[in-house]
Formats: sequence, structure tokens, C-alpha cells
Amino acid sequence: MPPHPSEDRLAQLRGHLPPQSYSARKITALTANPACARRAVLDAAGVDKAQLALRLGHEPRFGQSPFAIARSQGFEALVMWGGYAELIRLLREELSVPVEEAAVADLHEVAGRTTLPARERETRRLLARIAEGGADRLILDHPVLTLEVAGHTAYLEPDVVTHRIGDRFHTVAIRSFSAVDGQADPVAVAETARQAAVYVLALRRAFAAARIDPTLVSHRFLLVCPQDFSNRPYGRLLDIRQEIDAIEFQLGRLRRAEDLAALLPAGSTFDLSRSTDGAPTRSDAELRASVDALDAAYAPSCLGFCELSGHCRTEASANGSPARLGTAVRGDLPGIDSTRTALAYLDGTATPEPELADVVDLLTAADRLRSLRGGGAA
Ligand code: SF4
Repeated sequence: MPPHPSEDRLAQLRGHLPPQSYSARKITALTANPACARRAVLDAAGVDKAQLALRLGHEPRFGQSPFAIARSQGFEALVMWGGYAELIRLLREELSVPVEEAAVADLHEVAGRTTLPARERETRRLLARIAEGGADRLILDHPVLTLEVAGHTAYLEPDVVTHRIGDRFHTVAIRSFSAVDGQADPVAVAETARQAAVYVLALRRAFAAARIDPTLVSHRFLLVCPQDFSNRPYGRLLDIRQEIDAIEFQLGRLRRAEDLAALLPAGSTFDLSRSTDGAPTRSDAELRASVDALDAAYAPSCLGFCELSGHCRTEASANGSPARLGTAVRGDLPGIDSTRTALAYLDGTATPEPELADVVDLLTAADRLRSLRGGGAA
């Protein structure tokens, strides 16, 4: 089937490099700032944002080091080693049920095919078998699920989906950060919980499509990580109802990436490819102009999750954007797009539009209060 014209447009913007796929990590970042058209388009087009940030002159602050990736893969292999013995032990300990007889379907590949669509089809087939009552004791290792994100189909790969335990199915997240005395890094746990919420939503949709009651997917997931300073797997069930509701709400707020991409000027490009002699096929200036043509919604929290935060922060500072100082300041200056403009209204060198009069009155009152306090008045 030929690609949809809007997908053509996104592929054309990406240029010659293969697309980077969505991941639960990307989706949680996207939903952390659903108003940002820039990130929505770049993620839908599958652009490598870390490379793009470098071309724009900023060191990307994210991404796992090769050491961290190797450690993570090594720990996951340990959990799955010996016929999934450690995983089954943890399921037995945490979910208090006999699971010895459960079978495991390894979905890393399907009859030699490793493509995401092939693995997703097989996952759907197995879920249909579960729906028919034929595979209730089947643990799915690296199933592939889909989720609509900004009008696009994202393929997602949870580490494990358990068989029916009690009356629920659970997702499992295997991570290599340690739990010392039962406590792991709260930031890492919170990010894992958000990613697990993405998987729960995708699994509930897959269940619904297979005519299985989606509420059978538990709102608790099993976090597996190394215990203390050893490599022994440790598991804990975590309740993620809040995260599921928040991600579902934010997904609903994302605008369609195709509609946003259609607003870009002709000739825009995010092509990061290089010619055979290693020279970039597109100049840094072309990339910068295309990125800047997409509306950003910078806030200081972007520094915690987005590869482009260095670029967007510099841009927000150059424009005097109130959001540069945080969402509270942005909220205090509705309709005023620059702190310079706000200051000009205050010192009388610019006149506000009538609809901004209330905001400027409040600013003036706050400024007077500050000067009274500065002058020693109570
Ligand atoms: S850093 Fe920029 S591109 Fe990334 S979410 Fe924030 S505003 Fe959007």
C-alpha cells in the first residue's frame, strides 16, 4: 500500500536517514509538554533529536551511555536466564501464585522475522488465543503493542506481559538501577512508572481490539531491578493509576503531527544525512531555520527530558519569552509574549493593547508593592 501523503511529508522532512521509532520514553516526554509542536513533528518524523541538537550547536543531555546499555542488557538476560527462572520466582513472591507451569512466548522474533509489524501481528494472534481461553498460562516476552500518538501509530515493546494471575494481567519493567534496602532512585522509578503507564494503555487497547476486557490489565506493574549492591533481581509491585490517567489525558491533548508539519514552509528539512565524503547534505543554517519554523513551548522542565532543550532555552532567552522563567511567570503574563514587552509596559515606553490592560494593571500594582517594600514601608 503506498504511504499516506502526510506520511510522505514527514518522511520527506526526515530526509535520507531511517526513522527513529517511538518508545515509551519518547511518549512520556511528549506528554510532559503536549503544547510543543516542535517535538511532536520531530518525533512523528522519526528525526534523531540528539544529532539534530549537535548540529544546532548544543550538547544533547540525554541518551544512555554504551556502558549503561550493556549493563541493562546484561541484567535483563540474567532475569530471563534458565527458562525465566528469576522472573517466575519474582512473580511467585510478589503475586503469591503458583506460576511454575506457565509457558513463555519469546516475541523477539517470529519465524526469523524481527520487524515490529511482524512481531505486533504475532502478539495480536496470541492475545486472540488468550481471548478464546486457549493460552491463559502464557507469559509474553517482549510483545509488540501499538498506540496512537499525535495521529501516528507508535510500536511499543514492554519487557514482559504476565499470564493471567488471579484475574489480572501485569506488565513487567526490568531496569538496571539498584534498589538498596528496598529503595531505588525516586526519579528513575517515577520515569519507569510513566513508561509502564504507556504500556498499560497500549495493552488495554490491544485487549479491547481482541475483544478481551481491557480492565483485566492491572493498574499495578512489576518493577524488577538489582537488589542492593548485587545483581540478584528484586521485584516490587507499584500502583500507577495516577500515571495512567495523566498519560491518557495528555495523549488526548496532542495535536496531529501531520497538521503541524503541513504548516512548515516549503523546502523545510530535518535531513541529517551525509554524503559519501562525510559532508552534511544540508547546512546547519537550513536545519536551524526549519526547527525554528516549528512552534516550541519551552519551559525550564524541558531541561529534564528533551534533547533540544539547549536550543529551545537559548531561543526563549533571545526572545525574552516569559516561559524561560517558568510556567508560573508565563501564567502571570497571559497574552504577553516577551518579558521585554512586559517591562516596556511597566516603564511606560510601550502602550498595551486594551485587552491586556488588566494584566498590565496587575503588573503595575505588583511593581508598586515591590518598590514600597524596597523603600522600607510595612
Ligand atoms: S525542549 Fe523544545 S522541542 Fe523539546 S519539548 Fe521543550 S520546547 Fe519542545
